[in-house]
Amino acid sequence: MQKHRDKRLLLIEDSRMFATALKYGLELTHGINITHCASLDAARAEMAAAVESPFSLSVLDLNLPDAPNCEALDFVLENRVPAIVFTAAFNDGTRDEILARGVVDCIIKNEPGSIDRLLMAVDRALTNGRITVLVVDSNRETRSEVAGILRRERLSVIEASEAGEALQILDQGESIDVIVADAESADSAPPVLLEEVRKRQEEDAVPVIGLCEHGDARSAARYIEAGGADFIRKPFLEAEFCGRVRHAATLQQRIQGLRRAAASDYLTEIFNRRHFFLTGPRLVDQCLRRGEGTSIAVLDIDHFKRLNDTYGHEIGDVVLKHVARRMKALVGEEHLLARLGGEEFGILFDGLDVRQAFAFCERVRVELAKSKIVVDDDDLTITVSIGLATVEAPESFENYLHAADQFLYMAKHAGRNRVMSELTLLDALAS
Ligand code: GH3
Ligand code: MG
Ligand code: MG
Repeated sequence: MQKHRDKRLLLIEDSRMFATALKYGLELTHGINITHCASLDAARAEMAAAVESPFSLSVLDLNLPDAPNCEALDFVLENRVPAIVFTAAFNDGTRDEILARGVVDCIIKNEPGSIDRLLMAVDRALTNGRITVLVVDSNRETRSEVAGILRRERLSVIEASEAGEALQILDQGESIDVIVADAESADSAPPVLLEEVRKRQEEDAVPVIGLCEHGDARSAARYIEAGGADFIRKPFLEAEFCGRVRHAATLQQRIQGLRRAAASDYLTEIFNRRHFFLTGPRLVDQCLRRGEGTSIAVLDIDHFKRLNDTYGHEIGDVVLKHVARRMKALVGEEHLLARLGGEEFGILFDGLDVRQAFAFCERVRVELAKSKIVVDDDDLTITVSIGLATVEAPESFENYLHAADQFLYMAKHAGRNRVMSELTLLDALAS
């Protein structure tokens, strides 16, 4: 809630009814600071006064008493303020023209739900405000020219002179929303960069837009067929070019957002069971192919039902969030952590042998037992039991988890607040 607090939005709208509805909607739901103008003249004055704290976004009507022909849109775009158009119905041609000018979104008034749709568009625009474009071209001059156009549109730009350099930037984990690549050779050879990006990133692949001076409609078709997101031929209109880049980037950000939501547990915000089962097998494969074994742990909070019964479900939720947060801090990005369900968590280690993984689990167990959970005026403590199984040969992923579950069951029976694995059994036999 109120996650956009203090961001400034310029609302240019002459209808009192819409202006009021939007102002209250935006202020109440997002805490945005709204400046409302009913005419282009008033907007000019506000823009001039906003030098110190510029607007992050504008929402505007296309037909205003002193600006009947989209002049308000020209005005905000000239001032490099991203725009969402909110206007009465118009034909598809106009809509395409407007979108091609780099407008963030275009929402038709007077349709059911249009105000809600606008509120969502504003949220999206403010959340995804930052778009990063990787421009790849071996010709320094054209590269700077393209980068310059994009930078003037407030997009952040990283430049690379060839495919290898671009791939290195991606491999380093740089967050890139869209790649614009010189596609001059699209006719003769399959574009290397396009292929490599798709091979390495699979379904997460960053969209690649080809840019071409001599290509014809056929080369465009080939490029798209090879997996390109778009193909733009020179000379182009700057506004159209930027509009297409923005469009591809926004789409990618939305897809990534959906992917994140689908992979995360809504209560604890760490990965969920689905993600664990989806990505776990691939991680195991990688470890085994490197010739390393790995381990998988299942952690379960002790007597959680009792805690729920004593303190209530809401406090139970607070405890779950606390445990998830502490575990995330300990596990970091190196290994795969997820909430498997209820009060049960899974860790798939990236290449730790059983001894290392056991030591790690012990640390998790001790840390959680030590940490105090502050609820109201009380300090709660909890303990956890952990079952740890080794992964040495290819088996079904469920089998590894099943083995870890068996050890967890043994840990519970042995009195809880402990880690149980093959190692515990071997040590017990040896002594
Ligand atoms: P043990 O030490 O053997 O693990 O006992 P336990 O009480 O922790 O285990 P049991 O499986 O009997 O109880 C788990 C409880 O977790 C029951 C269920 O109501 C509770 N639970 C499951 N999901 C949630 C949740 O999202 N929030 C809260 N507050 N409780 C949950
Ligand atoms: Mg439990
Ligand atoms: Mg349980």
